[in-house]
Amino acid sequence: MSQVTIAQFAEVVKIPADRLLEQLATAGISKSSVDDEISDSEKMKLLGFLRESHGGGASAKSKGKVTLKKRSTATLKVGGGARSSTSRSVNVEVRKKRTIVKPDPVATQTDSKEATENQRVEREKRAEEERLRLQQDENRRKHQIQKKESEELAREEAVRREKEAADKKVREDEERRILDEQARLVAEKAAEKKREEEKESSGRKKSGKKQPTRYGRKELHVAAGKSGRKKQKKGAKGRRSPKVEIETEHGFTKPTAPVVLEVQIPETITVGDLAQKMSTKAAELIKVMMNLGTMATINQMIDQETASLLVEELGHTPVLMKENALEEEIMVAEEHESDKVHRAPVVTIMGHVDHGKTSLLDYIRESQVTEGEAGGITQHIGAYRVTTSKGEIAFLDTPGHAAFTAMRARGAKVTDIVVLVVAADDGVMPQTEEAIQHAKAANAPLIIAVNKIDKPDADPERVKSELASKDVVPDDWGGDVLFVNVSAHTGEGVDDLLDGIILQSEMLELTAVTDAPAKGNVVESRVDKGRGAVATVMVQSGTLRKGDILLAGREYGRVRAMMDEHGDQLTEAGPSTPVEILGLSGVPEAGEEALVVPNERKAREVANFRQGKYRDVRLAQQKQASLDRMFEHMQDGETSTVNILIKADVHGSAEALGDALNKLSTEEVKVNVVSSGVGGINESDANLAVASNAIVIGFNVRADATAKKLIESEGIDLHYYSVIYDAIDEIKRAMEGMLSPDFKEEIIGLAEVRDVFRSPKLGAIAGCMVSEGVVKRNNPIRVLRDNIVIYEGELESLRRFKDDVSEVRAGTECGIGVKSYNDVKEGDQIEVFERVEVARTL
Ligand code: GDP
Ligand code: MG
Repeated sequence: MSQVTIAQFAEVVKIPADRLLEQLATAGISKSSVDDEISDSEKMKLLGFLRESHGGGASAKSKGKVTLKKRSTATLKVGGGARSSTSRSVNVEVRKKRTIVKPDPVATQTDSKEATENQRVEREKRAEEERLRLQQDENRRKHQIQKKESEELAREEAVRREKEAADKKVREDEERRILDEQARLVAEKAAEKKREEEKESSGRKKSGKKQPTRYGRKELHVAAGKSGRKKQKKGAKGRRSPKVEIETEHGFTKPTAPVVLEVQIPETITVGDLAQKMSTKAAELIKVMMNLGTMATINQMIDQETASLLVEELGHTPVLMKENALEEEIMVAEEHESDKVHRAPVVTIMGHVDHGKTSLLDYIRESQVTEGEAGGITQHIGAYRVTTSKGEIAFLDTPGHAAFTAMRARGAKVTDIVVLVVAADDGVMPQTEEAIQHAKAANAPLIIAVNKIDKPDADPERVKSELASKDVVPDDWGGDVLFVNVSAHTGEGVDDLLDGIILQSEMLELTAVTDAPAKGNVVESRVDKGRGAVATVMVQSGTLRKGDILLAGREYGRVRAMMDEHGDQLTEAGPSTPVEILGLSGVPEAGEEALVVPNERKAREVANFRQGKYRDVRLAQQKQASLDRMFEHMQDGETSTVNILIKADVHGSAEALGDALNKLSTEEVKVNVVSSGVGGINESDANLAVASNAIVIGFNVRADATAKKLIESEGIDLHYYSVIYDAIDEIKRAMEGMLSPDFKEEIIGLAEVRDVFRSPKLGAIAGCMVSEGVVKRNNPIRVLRDNIVIYEGELESLRRFKDDVSEVRAGTECGIGVKSYNDVKEGDQIEVFERVEVARTL
C-alpha cells in the first residue's frame, strides 16, 4: 500500500501542513512531524472527525467512504495499479493523458479551512469544467497551428492543389458540414456535462456512478444506463457504414461481436484515407478525434501512433506498416544475375572552375557527333551518351559540384566513375580537393584528366605530386588512379581518356537487367512553358517505355514523350541511357529515384505518402539542426551526429576549423563536417545544408542574398565567427548543454559601397547606400568583398551630405570613411556590428 507524508497530503488538500498536523492531533491521530507518513485509514479517521465536527452533509455522504478513498488516492497519484484495477477509472485516466489535459491548480484552489467532502466534490467538478475548457482551448490552439502549417505548405502544394481543385470543393463542403457538426457536438457535450453535474450535486453518490468513459469502444460495450448517451451512440451507429455493426447494449442478452477490421496503417496517413480504410465517414473519425482532444481536417496528415489509437478507438485492429512497406510493394521483382547484361558507365566530370570541364565535355560531344547530326543544334539535357570505338559512355553534365552533392545528399548513386579535370598550368585548387572528397564519399573511382596540356606552362608532373599528397596516387607511381594528359583545345589525349573510362568500367563489371520495369534517377528537372514538367532521367536498369507510369520521388505520371539529348523522340530507353521525359505531375528533385510502377493508383498512393513523409522530415529537420536545441535533442536521444557545413575566407581557416570541430566528437555525439570550403555562403551551400540537415558556420564570410533567403525560409541555423576559438567554444558548449557566452556579436547594419571618392584630407570616402538596419558612427565595422571579410576596424567619419552624423538608417545615402583603410572599392559592403550582452533564458 502506498503511503504519503503529511506534507504531501496537505499539498493535495490545499491546507498548510502544520494546520493539518493540528487537525490530526485534534482527531486523535498523533503525528510528530509533517514528514511522517499518513495511512489511508488515518485519512479516513480524520475525515470522519472533520465531518462530525462540521455536521451537515456528513450523513448524506457517509456511504461514499470507499469511493472517496479511491478518489483521493487517485488524485494523490499514489493509487497502486492493484487497487484501482477493478475500476474503469484507470482507463479514463489513460485517456486523459492522451488528451493532454492538465489539471488546473486554480480550479482546485480553495481557501477552505478544512478539506471537507463537499468541497472536494465541488473541486472535482470545477476541475472537470476547467479541463473541458482547457481542452477546448488546446483544440483551438492546435487548430491554429495546423492552419499556420498548412499556410506554409500552401506554396509547395499549389501545383498539386490546382489539379485537385474540383475534388477539393466537394471536400470543403464536407468539411464545412463537419465543422458545424463539431460546433454542435461541443454544445451538446457541454450541455450533457452540465446535466450530469446537476445530477451529481443533487446528492447522487459518486461511488455508485459509472465512470464516464467519454467515447469509444469501452463505452460501446457497457450497459447503456443513461438515455442521453444511449441516444448518441445510436446516432453513431447509424452514421457508420452498414458493414460495421457495433453492439450498443448488453445486459441480459449476449453482445454480438462487432465487425473488426484489420487496418493497415502507414507511417503517415490522412484522416480521410484512414476513415476510408475503416469504412467510416471522415466526419465520424474527425468527431472521434475531437473527443480525443484534437481538431483535425479531412486532409490532415496524422502519424502512425495517432492513427492506431483511432483505429483501436473504433474497435478495429491496427496493423502497423513498416516505413517502406509501400515502397517495397512497388519494388521490381528480384533481379537474377543471369538476366543481367553489360551496361555503359555513367561518368561525372568535376574540377575547379575554369580548369576546362565544359570545354572537355564539349570536345567529347562534338568529336563524337555522327555525320547525320553534325550541324544540328544539340539540346542541353544535363546528360548525354557518346559512342566511342570501344563502347558507349554516358556523361552527366552536372553544373558544378553542387548538383552532384545534392544528388548524393538524396542517397542517389548515379555516377560510376568521376573524371576529375585539373588544369596542368594551375594544379590542385580548393574545388579540386572538394571533388576528391565528393568522389571518395560517393565511393566512385577517380580518373584524373590533366587538362590544358597544350599550354606552354603546363606542368603535369606537378599535378601528379600535388594529387599524390592528397592521397590520389598515380598508377605509374604505384597507386591505383589513372592519370591522362589531355587538351580540350587540341583534342590531344581525349581518346586515351575515353579508353581509360572504358577500361575502368570493365573493371567495375557494370551490368543491369534490360527486360524489367525501368529504374533510374532524376538528373535534373524544370518546368517548361507549354510542355509542363520536364525531367531528365538516367535509366539505371530495366527499360523505360513511352506510356509507362513513372514514379519519381514525390511526383508521378504517364510518360507522354521521351527524348534523347538531340531532342529526338524515343520509344524506349535501356540502362545507362539519359532521357528527357514529359508527363510528370510536377518537378521531381535532382537525385530522386524514378521507377516504373504497375498502375497509376499505386504511383499516386506512394507519391502522396512520400509527400506527407517529406513534410514530416522537413519539419523534423527544421527542429533539429540548431545549436540552441542540440543538447535538448541529445538528451532525448535524438541527435547522435551533428552535421556542420563550413565556409571560410581562406583555406587554412576552413581546414583548421574542420579539424578542431571533428575533434570535438565524443562517444555520444559525432561531429561531422559535411563540407568545408572557401568563399561566401551561396545558394548551393544553403541547399547542401538543407539536404544534410547541417548547421552552417561562416568564418569571416557572409551569406549572399539568395542564400540568406533560403536560410531564413528553411530555418537553417547559421553562425558567423571571426575567431576560431569562439566557434569551437560555442559548439562545444552547445554539445555540453551549457549556456552560450555572455556576449554575442550582432550585425546591426549593412551599407553598400556605390562609389569611392578620394579626398586629400580624409583619404578614401565611400559613397554608400545603407541597405539594412542602421550604420552607427561609433560602432565597429567590417569591410566585405564578395561576402568575404577583408577588413575589420572602425569608422573615421560618417556623413550625410556635408554634415557629420552619428547614425544613418536603411534606405539613406551616406559617406563613410574607414579609419586607416583606404582600399574600399565599389561593390564592397560595410557591415556594422555591436557586441551585445546575451539575455539569459535559463
Ligand atoms: P570550366 O569552368 O571547368 O567548365 O572551364 P571551361 O571549360 O569554361 O574553360 C575555362 C577556360 O579554359 C576557357 O577559356 C577555355 O577556353 C580554357 N581551356 C579549357 N580547356 C583548355 C585546354 O585544354 N587548353 C587551353 N589552352 N585552354 C583551355
Ligand atoms: Mg563550365
